Amino acid sequence: METDMVFRNKINYINNLYEQPYLLIPNIQTVAKVDSFKAGKIACNITEDGIAAIFGPQNDECAGIVEAICYNLKIPNFQTHWQPKKTTFQDAAKMAIKMYPDPHMLSVAINDILKTMEWKSFTILYEHDDALLRLQEIFRNHKTFENVITVRQLTGFDYRSLLKEIHASGERRIILDCNTDTTIQLFRQAAEVKMTGEYISYYILNLDTHTLRQEMLQHSLTNMTIISLIDPNYGEARKYIVDEWTTEMPSLTVTAETIPTELALMYDAVDVFYQGLKMADSIKFEKVICNPGIDTWTDGEAFYDVLKKVKSDGLSGPIQFDENGYRTDFTLQILDISDDGFRPIGTWDPANGVRRTISEEDSLAQYSAALRNKTFKVASRIGEPYLMWKNKSAEGNERFEGYAMDLIHEISKLIGFKYEFYITEKYGSLDKKTKTWNGLIKELLDRKADLAICDLTITFDRRSAVDFTMPFMTLGISILFKKPVARPPPFFAFMAPLSVEVWLYMALALLGVAFSVYIITRMCPKDWENPNPQDPNPTELENIWSVTNCIWLSLGTIMCLGCDILPKGSSSRITVVLWGFFALIVIQSYIANLTASLTNEKLGDSIHNAEDLAKQTKVKYGTVSEASTANFFRDSNFSVYQKMWSTMESARPSVFVKDNNEGQKRVLRDKGTYAFLMESTAIEYVTARECELTQVGGKLDSKGYGIAMPVNSPYRTDISGAVLKLQESGKLSTLKTKWWKDMNGGRKCDENPSNKVKEEDANKMGIENFGGIFVVLIAGTTFAIFIVICEFLWNIRTIAVEHKITTCEALKSELRFAFQIFNKEKPAKPYAPSEASSDEDTRSVAASVFRSASSFLRLDNVIEKKDN
Ligand code: GLU
Repeated sequence: METDMVFRNKINYINNLYEQPYLLIPNIQTVAKVDSFKAGKIACNITEDGIAAIFGPQNDECAGIVEAICYNLKIPNFQTHWQPKKTTFQDAAKMAIKMYPDPHMLSVAINDILKTMEWKSFTILYEHDDALLRLQEIFRNHKTFENVITVRQLTGFDYRSLLKEIHASGERRIILDCNTDTTIQLFRQAAEVKMTGEYISYYILNLDTHTLRQEMLQHSLTNMTIISLIDPNYGEARKYIVDEWTTEMPSLTVTAETIPTELALMYDAVDVFYQGLKMADSIKFEKVICNPGIDTWTDGEAFYDVLKKVKSDGLSGPIQFDENGYRTDFTLQILDISDDGFRPIGTWDPANGVRRTISEEDSLAQYSAALRNKTFKVASRIGEPYLMWKNKSAEGNERFEGYAMDLIHEISKLIGFKYEFYITEKYGSLDKKTKTWNGLIKELLDRKADLAICDLTITFDRRSAVDFTMPFMTLGISILFKKPVARPPPFFAFMAPLSVEVWLYMALALLGVAFSVYIITRMCPKDWENPNPQDPNPTELENIWSVTNCIWLSLGTIMCLGCDILPKGSSSRITVVLWGFFALIVIQSYIANLTASLTNEKLGDSIHNAEDLAKQTKVKYGTVSEASTANFFRDSNFSVYQKMWSTMESARPSVFVKDNNEGQKRVLRDKGTYAFLMESTAIEYVTARECELTQVGGKLDSKGYGIAMPVNSPYRTDISGAVLKLQESGKLSTLKTKWWKDMNGGRKCDENPSNKVKEEDANKMGIENFGGIFVVLIAGTTFAIFIVICEFLWNIRTIAVEHKITTCEALKSELRFAFQIFNKEKPAKPYAPSEASSDEDTRSVAASVFRSASSFLRLDNVIEKKDN
């Protein structure tokens, strides 16, 4: 209807022009959309009245027949609607002036604009099949192996489930090709399922979307790119034209901004027709009978050639045709949406491609302005020192404190937004089977949060689901472990290298060997010796291997003392050699173990890096579950880390913990049997407060913490810039010092040197390591002194009895001998016999003196005898 009015209005306008030599009579016919037969009939009828051009029809179904008739009668045919198919009737298009952009060129333009938007993955929603023609260049140019694009058809009237599916897939970029009614409907439903807003982008291909200004204003936060033929530079003229329309045709409801494309094209078509009339020399209009192949308009082709040469600027931008009457040269306007409606941001034309009239920065500036009025929902989690409870009963942000809170506060000061913290449990990890996220990442994907901040590591997986700012902290995975503590060595540390059983078995073995030697030597003839070697025919043979001598031999061998007497028989020698060999092995093992146990005691443990952890089983190790450190091991290709991951996975009870705090407590509790794989920044924080804990080894990787936000967030550039500014101004390191050192006893381990284990101390051996052996030495010596006193007193008594002197006299005399330290000799018979006694008696006294001496003396005696 509106098209008819505009058509008629424009014809009237032309008729009123002063220099206009013709009177143009509009003949408007209406035909049902699907009735092509009737359309053909009407077209035939009107030609018989004499006709200069046919405009329309405005639908594809009837266009073919009218186009064919026009071709046959040589009457120019202005077409103002989208024509997906070329005509089936060969050459028919040759009398057509196609005002609507050429489908192929339009497809090229659509693809060129998409390229500048740098979308890698997106979903295409189209309504009618002919949209595929507009999309063909996108399909042709998309590198399928790089990124997946999804194509879905819009059917029915309820698109919610489809939109929900798209939402769940994480897709935030949509190319929409549907009519304007469907666009309105779809956006209404999209708003219900959270598929509108600042994190969602739409690229709408319908050239009439600009007419939806009013409807789309409520989605002005959504990123929307639309294309239109209506030239904004034609603004004043357009306004003027539309003003005229509305005064002359009050029922027309269009405004200068919302002229539908078809209306504009009809207006421009009449204008082209008028320009052609002016350009043509003289045209004779005549009646033609609709009899194909017989009757034609004589000047028709000439007029058509003139029309094709018309160049003008119309409501639909610059107009120019190729030799087939196609509008291949057109300019597309690119617009986005702002609070004031659609705003031109660039143009596309075949010669220059896309040209932005508003820079990317200017577009972003719009978001910066929006940022100022926005209250960000910030998701975080409780974890020292990033976010901690300050006052649980307070309201809002007052409940929390911590590094994350301060950081967001600093950023908000720079940019000027408000924020509201809320907490979740987990960091965020991807379930590879269900492809779903949990924790903070899920909050962002569900649009419940605008920002997520804590010790949230930037990882590849997360980066593909959400956007991150510049890292505000760098770190790497390392090992938190108990410090090696110098435990007080056991008092009898020298016993430690061998177990009590071994000591007992050794004592038994010693006695057993001594007894064996005793038996063997008694049986072995060579060990029965002539007591007086000068006597070749001794009446008696002597065997020196008493039980005590046998024990002495065994002891001397194992203590490495050697022995002054050795057996002579081969069997007894074999026994002694084997015992010597046994002694050699046992003593070497003892020394080796003693060295090791003393060293171990000092160093505490043998874990110095991840490889050490991997190759042992005594110390268990784990990570925070469902977080980046666990994922690092899970996804690593390095064999050591793979081994560590399978060890961690199979460990029972589980070695995974809920958070860093639990991990730290477990390291303390398990006293050197549990190591916690933790991020270096967290280790730094913990070891400054728990002096018993330390970082072992270096960092296994290098990464950073970032502030996460939904993909495509328009605020990312601003917030990233703010992080960078804070870093450059030193604010980030001030905050770090505040929370790592100044708050919550961060200098505890620096200030209290007694908490420090000095490495040098750990390497020195103290008296405590040798305490036991000193005691043994002192006890042994004391015992020996006790024995010698007993022997001495026993000797005094014997002397007193034998020489019939008083014990006191004997004691005095023996003490005198004993303490005349420079006197090296002692009379063999110091006491004169108290009464006459035979030599025989004297000998017996001397013999008894000798008999009463200790085994040492007796051995000496034996040696003397042997020497003799
Ligand atoms: N920062 C880690 C994350 O973002 C959590 C701690 C860890 O895995 O060690 O998942």
